[in-house]
Amino acid sequence: MNNVKGLFAFTLILFVSACDNTHTPRESIKDILYPEVETQPVDTSGDAADDPAIWVNAQTPEKSLVLGTDKKQGLNVYDLTGQLRQQLPIGRLNNVDIRYNIDFNGELIDLAAASNRTNNSISLFAIDNLGKVSLLQDIPTSLPEVYGLCMYSDKDHQYVFINDKDGRYQQYQIINQQNKLSGKLVREFALNTQPEGCVADDLTGQLYMGEEASGIWMTSAKPLQSQIIKIADLDLMLHADVEGMGIYYFQQKPYLVVSSQGSNSYVVFDLENNNTPIGQFRIGTNSANNVDEVSETDGLDVSSANLGAQFPDGLLVAQDGYNQLPHAAQNFKLVSGTGLRQLIEQWTQ
Ligand code: CA
Ligand code: CA
Ligand code: CA
Ligand code: CA
Repeated sequence: MNNVKGLFAFTLILFVSACDNTHTPRESIKDILYPEVETQPVDTSGDAADDPAIWVNAQTPEKSLVLGTDKKQGLNVYDLTGQLRQQLPIGRLNNVDIRYNIDFNGELIDLAAASNRTNNSISLFAIDNLGKVSLLQDIPTSLPEVYGLCMYSDKDHQYVFINDKDGRYQQYQIINQQNKLSGKLVREFALNTQPEGCVADDLTGQLYMGEEASGIWMTSAKPLQSQIIKIADLDLMLHADVEGMGIYYFQQKPYLVVSSQGSNSYVVFDLENNNTPIGQFRIGTNSANNVDEVSETDGLDVSSANLGAQFPDGLLVAQDGYNQLPHAAQNFKLVSGTGLRQLIEQWTQ
């Protein structure tokens, strides 16, 4: 009897440790991409690195950058070799996004926005054409506990979506008056429970939002009240928490890449075909480059821009919950878009 109990307990321990906190065994996900590069670890320990944004250097694509939040400290800027280029320790920045070619002080700048949990504001940064990032100012919100953030640009205006942990979203239009930026609240709406990851497709004018414990929602990104439609529930592929998301363009068609944190994987949706989930992949260990596998991804970003010889089909950047080889503080992994493109090609054949 004792032996049976002992065996049961042993089996249970094995089962629990094998499951860890994932729902789908990673090993059952057969499509695997491998990270080429990882960034330097963040300065702070524990769950700290959170959300990246890829800055495409239009003049010198191989000198593009990755902006990554350290949610305990501020903003880090890395080059495509993963080396830290700049650090802006301005507060508890959670999510960051970028838009391009904004008229400011008589010149065109690129603009980054980050949700700042230190003062419940939107921190705005200018990125010059060499990739130097500088803080412009904080735009206050009326939300008590800001969390996720993403940007949207139509032909004439830039907008920031920022959400509260309670599910509320605010959409601010960025106004430039006498070269002082401000935010005008143009729309509010809410999801039922905590969202974080979001992304707007500037070409289609759609906004996609992850409700962490529930699924993915879509609404117009235009500053008008619009229907909010659920496009994905949690299912065999998409496991809570639903986290970071980005849009990859392949053959002029948009594909939504979403972090399924609970299954340590990423689900890809065909946005032009009823938002159908077309496949999932994980990010494995690249032994040759000594870059460890990626798990429990919070934020991610994807770009389909040609970033030079190393990343000709763009880039996926994913936050890694456990940075190994060697064990260190969290960081971001850079995955070539070529593998992602090939998977999409294979899944949509
Ligand atoms: Ca981001
Ligand atoms: Ca989250
Ligand atoms: Ca890892
Ligand atoms: Ca590592």
